[in-house]
Amino acid sequence: MTDTYRTKGLRKHLVEDLKNKGIKDTNVLDAIGNIPRHYFVPSSLFEHAYMDTPLPIACNQTISQPYTVARQSELLEIKKQLRILEIGTGSGYQAAILRYMGAFVYSIERQRDLYEHAKELFHTLSISIASKHGDGYNGWSEFAPFDRILVTCGAIEIPQILLIQLKINGILVAPVGEPGQQIMTKTIRLSDTDFETTTHGSFRFVPMLKNAE
Ligand code: SAH
Repeated sequence: MTDTYRTKGLRKHLVEDLKNKGIKDTNVLDAIGNIPRHYFVPSSLFEHAYMDTPLPIACNQTISQPYTVARQSELLEIKKQLRILEIGTGSGYQAAILRYMGAFVYSIERQRDLYEHAKELFHTLSISIASKHGDGYNGWSEFAPFDRILVTCGAIEIPQILLIQLKINGILVAPVGEPGQQIMTKTIRLSDTDFETTTHGSFRFVPMLKNAE
């Protein structure tokens, strides 16, 4: 895996593109400017890695569009050393961005091939991320509660268990809605029982599936 002047240059352009599209968090832009997205896409799609578009990965899934990764990361208000649970490791790109920003990342993927591929990639790139193969609908109780939870697949509604695994004052970001189109939601846990949810535009994600599906 090599990061050339060309790929570095393409990444700079991508960062400018995201700024123009309204991404303001400099830590997010810095992470996107530093993590080589081309390591996370299939080699046949290498040429498209720095376009602001989702791309197919194995198991009929997708690596999210850079704008979506940036927007979700921005909404999460990441600070160094926060513990964040990601549902849907996929290519591992979003997890690598969050780790670059200094968070401790725990990521769950239900497709075994994707889980294994991402785990190997994290190892090769010396990116320290805790990952597991499993159903994100169950969260990850051993490491709960989390400061942040990020869902990177479209759920019909926010899974209750994830809300339970969120710390008070923690933030959960999830695209919610029927397959085909979801609304980005940001939920802050105000107390044991109170949550405040705001919406942040429409996006399109692959569906969040239960393990039996
Ligand atoms: N964050 C990823 C995006 C991958 S697409 C990236 O940066 O590439 C969403 C992923 O969510 C898919 O890989 C899909 O297999 C996974 N997924 C869907 N339902 C899930 C569930 N219940 N638990 C864990 N992962 C799930």
